[in-house]
Amino acid sequence: MLRIHIGSITDQGLNLDEREDAAGLPLLNIVAGEGDLRFIRPVHLIIHATLSGETVLIDGIAETQVRLPCSRCLEPFNLKIQAGFSATAVPEIPSLIDPEAADDIELAADDMDVIAYSGDSIDLRDEIAQQIIMALPFKPLCRDACKGLCSRCGVDLNQTPCQCSPLDEKSPFAVLKTRTFPKKQE
Ligand SMILES: [Zn+2]
Ligand SMILES: [Zn+2]
Repeated sequence: MLRIHIGSITDQGLNLDEREDAAGLPLLNIVAGEGDLRFIRPVHLIIHATLSGETVLIDGIAETQVRLPCSRCLEPFNLKIQAGFSATAVPEIPSLIDPEAADDIELAADDMDVIAYSGDSIDLRDEIAQQIIMALPFKPLCRDACKGLCSRCGVDLNQTPCQCSPLDEKSPFAVLKTRTFPKKQE
């Protein structure tokens, strides 16, 4: 359930190794609903948590796999996502916090990864989802050498070299285009 039960943290700390379907993480559902990205593996979480007073220090790694379109050739491909994270969880006691201290905590929450918990368990879902989202590539590539689509005729140059003339020699992209050695049309 991607939760830490405070009571189960011993003096040696707590090791957690769990899998949760991406559908169980609300923030990941939002991301998957917005674009062509799909989570094709459950989120695998491995964490170590230690208790210091009521503060819980959490270190871990989250892994999953997504299927998303290449930003160059638009073909969907599978990509493994791995996100390390560390966070501090503190009890949420709103009635006991004076306003100045609350400001401090809010600031800290922005600067570091601070999770507020209530009761005897810490919900890690949003924290983990955020780390996974941050680990998603801004410009996903199916492979480093993806040739992309021809800007003139639109063919996927990974599959078929096209018959378009190479761009002007002065273009910084000319060298990339001539790699496919297209035949000149008379
Ligand atoms: Zn590609
Ligand atoms: Zn072309």
